[in-house]
Amino acid sequence: MTQRVVVIGAGVIGITTALELQRRGHSVLVLDRIGVAAEASAGNAGAFAFPEVEPLATPGIMRKAPKWLLDPLGPLSIPPAYALRIAPWMYRFWRASRPDRYGELLGAQARLTDLSRQALGRLVASVNGEGLLQRDGQMQLYEGEAEFRASLPTWDLRRKHGIEFELLESPVDIAKKQPGLSSRFTHAGFTPNWLNTVDPKSWVEHLAEVFLNRGGQIQRREIRAMSPVENGIRIVCADETLGAAKVVVAAGAWSHQIAQTLGDRIPLETERGYNTTLPKGAFDLRMHLTFSGHGFVASKINGGVRIGGAVELGGLSLPPNFKRADVLLKKAAEFLPGLKTDGGTQWMGFRPSLPDSIPVIGPSPKSPQVVYAFGHGHLGLTQSAGTAEMVGALVDRQSPPISVSPYAATRF
Ligand SMILES: Cc1cc2nc3c(=O)[nH]c(=O)nc-3n(C[C@H](O)[C@H](O)[C@H](O)COP(=O)(O)OP(=O)(O)OC[C@H]3O[C@@H](n4cnc5c(N)ncnc54)[C@H](O)[C@@H]3O)c2cc1C
Repeated sequence: MTQRVVVIGAGVIGITTALELQRRGHSVLVLDRIGVAAEASAGNAGAFAFPEVEPLATPGIMRKAPKWLLDPLGPLSIPPAYALRIAPWMYRFWRASRPDRYGELLGAQARLTDLSRQALGRLVASVNGEGLLQRDGQMQLYEGEAEFRASLPTWDLRRKHGIEFELLESPVDIAKKQPGLSSRFTHAGFTPNWLNTVDPKSWVEHLAEVFLNRGGQIQRREIRAMSPVENGIRIVCADETLGAAKVVVAAGAWSHQIAQTLGDRIPLETERGYNTTLPKGAFDLRMHLTFSGHGFVASKINGGVRIGGAVELGGLSLPPNFKRADVLLKKAAEFLPGLKTDGGTQWMGFRPSLPDSIPVIGPSPKSPQVVYAFGHGHLGLTQSAGTAEMVGALVDRQSPPISVSPYAATRF
């Protein structure tokens, strides 16, 4: 049945979902307080990281975390002003890393990622999006035998999930795929079926343009609250009140604030990430590189190089600390001798993160006319197309392509 569906949030999750709802015949209005690809979806590393099946909360991670936290500019940090606020989330994160729960979460992440890989193929064909993709693969780099050996269980997991890869055990083999790396990297794993966008912002803008050309609407409005009414949902915006038969909440790291107005309490936090984008000619980067032990990556963006990563558990309102981006760039210059570090643009983005590393996809427990689609953490771009297909089915009260129970908002 055709009905008016409002999608809150014009990031990669909201816009991809809006396109899918439109494909299913709905009249779709997207609302965003800033505009298309304004937040995390604008400046991320641009990877469709389909080989990343492992949730962040791995068994043993809590043993490593204190060491990382010792360095205030290290890969993981908690600003003192936010330490108490984040404690309940950290406790849930720890619970998610226990071996029994980890196994379930691994399955949930792998199924959503696999669905998303297939769904992206369908999406790319329907929006003529191939020109915005780079199919160069990814190389994960290790310093020395010990670090490489420690990574082998993760490669075994990928093998079990049917992910193609090649392990490289000498700097010479590494250099054949990516010349110009520091010789400290002695081992690597190469995943050919890893895709990147030319630019994540352009990707979402392209999807938004297709959506508009097919009759969709995007309006700039800030949503303050929602409430159920007869036959639908009342949406209170900063400037006026709207109505919709169904609402999808895809407001990234701010989604829990909107959900709370319906009475749903969801432990969404943000993992703030940093990067610097260098112009064309900065380095001859042949593929996406992951510096495993240092929590950052180098990706090709619009012919330039984006160096970024890090996790700062600092909430939505503390000002950015761009020293983090400086530190990553300095390390990148050591790892990629010859990297031209001038002329870069720094950025900080809010990953929307749930403590068990998988998103909320499913109806609001308080109001079934509202469907949640948020909390994709490090993998929002990667999991966007699969999320959209699941939400489409949920809005139409059909069975989604994979079971939604692991992603339910009621799991907390
Ligand atoms: C440094 C970094 C690197 C990353 N690299 C990758 C990567 O390579 N691959 C990958 O898959 N993922 C990556 N991610 C994660 C990815 O960026 C996010 O998971 C994804 O962008 C989340 O998309 P979203 O649409 O849920 O949220 P967002 O893109 O944040 O969009 C949410 C939208 O909701 C709007 N909004 C919020 N509140 C309201 C309101 N009250 N009213 C109206 N509008 C509202 C905002 O304006 C915003 O436009 C990275 C993230 C970071 C920070």
